[in-house]
Amino acid sequence: MASVASEAYVREVIQGKGVIDIRDDCKGCDQCVQWCPADAITTDGLGGRHKIDHSLCVNCGQCRVHCPFDRIDEVSMLDYVKAAIADPDVHVIAQPAPSVRVAFGEEFDEPATGDNIRAVESKMFDAIRKVGMNTVWDTNFAADMTITEEGYELVMRILNALGVEGFEEAGPLPQFTSCCPGWVRYAETRFGDKEFNGNPRLAHISSARSPVMMFGPVAKTYGAEKLGKDPAKIFDVAISPCTAKKFEVTRPEFISSSNGPDKVYNDVDAVITTREFAQLVRETGVDYASLDENAKPDPGMSEETGAAIIFGNTGGVMEAALRTGYRVLAGEELPVEAYDKVFKETNIRLDGEMEFDDDKMIREATIDIPVKALDITVPATFAVIYGSKNTQEMWRRIEENAKLDDNDPNKKLYVFVEVMNCPGGCINGGGQPIRRDA
Ligand code: SF4
Ligand code: SF4
Ligand code: SF4
Repeated sequence: MASVASEAYVREVIQGKGVIDIRDDCKGCDQCVQWCPADAITTDGLGGRHKIDHSLCVNCGQCRVHCPFDRIDEVSMLDYVKAAIADPDVHVIAQPAPSVRVAFGEEFDEPATGDNIRAVESKMFDAIRKVGMNTVWDTNFAADMTITEEGYELVMRILNALGVEGFEEAGPLPQFTSCCPGWVRYAETRFGDKEFNGNPRLAHISSARSPVMMFGPVAKTYGAEKLGKDPAKIFDVAISPCTAKKFEVTRPEFISSSNGPDKVYNDVDAVITTREFAQLVRETGVDYASLDENAKPDPGMSEETGAAIIFGNTGGVMEAALRTGYRVLAGEELPVEAYDKVFKETNIRLDGEMEFDDDKMIREATIDIPVKALDITVPATFAVIYGSKNTQEMWRRIEENAKLDDNDPNKKLYVFVEVMNCPGGCINGGGQPIRRDA
């Protein structure tokens, strides 16, 4: 079965060397160095052959997207996906990520705008069926699970920090997000051996799986039951804006979906990027213009809330976690006026034009959260970062803040840090369409 070959392939190539590599015919223009968020590209200087240090690379594909000469390759799983589609014994489930639906139309000269976003999204669902995949469920379903878990984890960490009995096992504050595999890889390679206040820095990263990795095991257990399918015959494909997801799904710890002690499967069998999905659509001869503008995903694992859809944009995970945490701690919804005022003043969601200035890479906002059970209000500071290496500056701020006296008015309670490796979040991920004219 295709998934067995896929597993061998990804173990050897992706886990061994990584997803992205620079070709020998590199022109040495240095563009990739400017965009690498992990300082993973080595060079002898302008005009010289550039190389990737695979021990530092986070597989994000930003160099590939921005190489003006297309001299950077990525490992593709598309052949294995095609083999699974062609196998009548295999049931292929597609899980498109939130950011794919926005970019899919771009590949076919129909960029999604406010007016046509639903039509482009529907065309994506229809195209998934037309290329031969059997079930299309929406990763937004799992994004809701991730945010519920991350939000409740945040609540427990805050209660632990406030000394509430029964929450001693909760991790330390601030809680960093875990849904970006580029950032998680960066943390492992750069902070893996570091501590803060007696805790490993990695303990600050949420224990919640990313939406893609939550989706897979649920699809192969609950989903398989709903479909009446043997999970051994299910091939789960994530359609993603992200090349780092290819590394994430092949991590050995994510071979865990089980319907019995001796029946364990890949949680997710393959990842194809938005670009590769568009390639599949073209190769299959699907006519984009004739795709159904009202197609829906299949019921069962597609229901979603607004929290899921904002995941792909910088600040989206933070906002969803804040909404969840606030509701649990305060016993009421986050008031819209408070939310609007603070978020507009700080521009933490980076609304409007995308900006890549250094001072936009880390944004902070402090929101008063009433903790109903303790009858106190906690001024909680949230931060949003893009670019993994900017977490170095975030940790510097956190460490400096920790040195301040508790009575110092400048002292903050950092509770939550959202990190997205790519500029602006997944919407600009390394697997999205490449626009040389942009
Ligand atoms: S951007 Fe491309 S051509 Fe330029 S140095 Fe990097 S890999 Fe080489
Ligand atoms: S894939 Fe990302 S981390 Fe790796 S070299 Fe390219 S830009 Fe840097
Ligand atoms: S920001 Fe999104 S696209 Fe970029 S590495 Fe992280 S998860 Fe992937």
